[in-house]
This record gives sequence, structure tokens and C-alpha cells, in this order.
Amino acid sequence: MISYCPICGKPVYFAERKRSLGKDYHPLCLKCYHCKRQLSPGQHAEYDDKPYCNHCYLQHFGPRGTRWPTLYSSLRAASSSKVPLENQNSS
Ligand SMILES: [Zn+2]
Ligand SMILES: [Zn+2]
Repeated sequence: MISYCPICGKPVYFAERKRSLGKDYHPLCLKCYHCKRQLSPGQHAEYDDKPYCNHCYLQHFGPRGTRWPTLYSSLRAASSSKVPLENQNSS
């Protein structure tokens, strides 16, 4: 039973296959499509049939759909322009 690597399209033999997310990859093919980092089977994201590391996935396709802490809520503080009190020594 030979399956085909979705990345390079070549057959993946049982001994070398890395099965992840229902597909069989070559060990060298199972890497992030964006940053080329090696991925662990089942420990990565996938988009458009291409594997991505979670980091790149979030960067490109997130965080819509995922829960994301509102990091910027604290930045809503009114940016009041403080007028510095200068000691004007007019002599
Ligand atoms: Zn491959
Ligand atoms: Zn990546």
C-alpha cells in the first residue's frame, strides 16, 4: 500500500512515511510551507493542503476563528499629550 506525498507528489513508502492529519508525508517534506521548519506529525497546522507550523499559521491565517487574548485593550488608554512644564528662565 503506497500513498503519495501531498507535497512532492512522489510515493511514500511505509518505512519512511510520516503520517499526519490523514496524509502521508516524506520526513523531509513534512515541514512548514512558509518557514521550512521541520514539523512533528500531528503537531502542526494545515492550510490549503499544505503543512504549516502553528506559528506561521497564526501569522498568516489567524487569529480569526481562534480565541486570542485582546492584547491591545490596554493600549486604548487615552493618549493625552502631556504638556511638559518647562522652567523658563527668562533673564
Ligand atoms: Zn514528499
Ligand atoms: Zn513556519
